[in-house]
Amino acid sequence: MRYCSTRGHPARPRFCDILLAGLAPDGGLYLPETYPQVDDATLTRWRSLPYADLAFEVLSLYVDDIPAADLLAICRKTYTSEVFGTAQIVPLRRLHPLADSGQEPQALMYLEGLSNGPTLAFKDMAMQLLGNLFEYELARRGETLNILGATSGDTGSAAEYAMRGKRGLTVFMTSPHGRMSPFQQAQMFSLMDANIHNIAIEGVFDDCQDMVKAVSADADFKRRNRIGTVNSINWARLVAQVVYYFAGYIQATSSNEEQVSFAVPSGNFGNVCAGHVARMMGLPIHQLVVATNENDVLDEFFRSGVYRVRSAADTRETSSPSMDISKASNFERFVFDLLGRDGPRVAQLFASDLARHGCFDLSADAAFAGAARRFGFVSGSSTHADRLATIRDTDARFGVVVDTHTADGIKVAREHLTPGVPMLVLETALPIKFAQTIVEALGHSPPCPARFAGIEDLPRRVLVMPADVNAIKAYIERHSNV
Ligand SMILES: *Cc1c(COP(=O)(O)O)cnc(C)c1O
Repeated sequence: MRYCSTRGHPARPRFCDILLAGLAPDGGLYLPETYPQVDDATLTRWRSLPYADLAFEVLSLYVDDIPAADLLAICRKTYTSEVFGTAQIVPLRRLHPLADSGQEPQALMYLEGLSNGPTLAFKDMAMQLLGNLFEYELARRGETLNILGATSGDTGSAAEYAMRGKRGLTVFMTSPHGRMSPFQQAQMFSLMDANIHNIAIEGVFDDCQDMVKAVSADADFKRRNRIGTVNSINWARLVAQVVYYFAGYIQATSSNEEQVSFAVPSGNFGNVCAGHVARMMGLPIHQLVVATNENDVLDEFFRSGVYRVRSAADTRETSSPSMDISKASNFERFVFDLLGRDGPRVAQLFASDLARHGCFDLSADAAFAGAARRFGFVSGSSTHADRLATIRDTDARFGVVVDTHTADGIKVAREHLTPGVPMLVLETALPIKFAQTIVEALGHSPPCPARFAGIEDLPRRVLVMPADVNAIKAYIERHSNV
């Protein structure tokens, strides 16, 4: 399997080369040259596999530069019931009306639980694998890597819990001082591992991102200190997410004749892009429902054909903060497929039109007109009031407390139910991570998993720093593992 850039660069690297790289040399994102097809017999065989072995089967189609026995061992080490809480890893829960609620049964709706890993958000699904892949590949090359990142909460904690204690890896994670939820702060700052560095920046999330960009733009510093990233455009993260679309489908159906739809709370288009890849591989997905919050860049595109990125000032701070994005960094992958894999055209749109005008318009394009039908995408958005109403309603009718992002997914899923087609809403975080809004909706705190009891009282290790690029460079230089 070889990989190509969405912007047409001629290089064709293999999996392990793009594992440790970020963008392609032309600024594009990597995608496989073709999508392997999963036929009926294969899908039937996969039905009986445990999650780790299913992950191995899916990854094997995309990875041919790690020996099969090693890849299988990595998958089995990653996806254990100890780490993810259940044998299914991504258990499906049917939303049943409570016996005494007097409600009619809904169209078949399920929650697919992606949030039972170490940090209680779906990013663990991919990041836990990435940690093990990085450790394996760095050891094989005799190299080290210093990961520099910016987080508003979920990505940073998932990365830290995936990389803690790993040989050859050091993490420098910036976050906006005092702005993450109390639970998120406790999760990250209570880590005492020597290879984890929490840096709270006096500023907002954009200041953190700008600092990371400034450090990465210094090619000499980056090379000298072996700086890498784990952001959502990494192909290995995306392919790890493809697995749970298969696992969800397999749990919800008993025959390959059946179709399901997925509703996906979306920000950077990483999660739902994995659904797109699964569908391109032949998984019988009826619709991919893209659910955004008030930052509705993606909903606007699927409704109108206009992709219009927002300025930092136009990006709203919402109660589903992990979806507060100004642009959807994985979206270029879908546009590449939508436009028949025309690299030069994608380069024109993303490197030129977007930079110059902040938007592009595909509404008059024949490819866009058929997009929903050909690729299964539909969309919708949700507001703070919708979120509160959905959290209350889901609690009252089904006895299930959902987090704010998942609530956005349920709200938009309801607008796209198709008779006879099960709707799987991806549960992207547990409610305890965003307790304040749950209290606002329900008047009480959400349940806290036993292993996190008292986490907010643990000692903390965090350095507070001004938004000063030279200061963070000096800190990295002193603590990097090279
Ligand atoms: C990251 C995140 C999302 C958005 O996922 P994308 O891949 O960026 O679309 C949704 N919900 C939660 C809880 C998240 O952490």
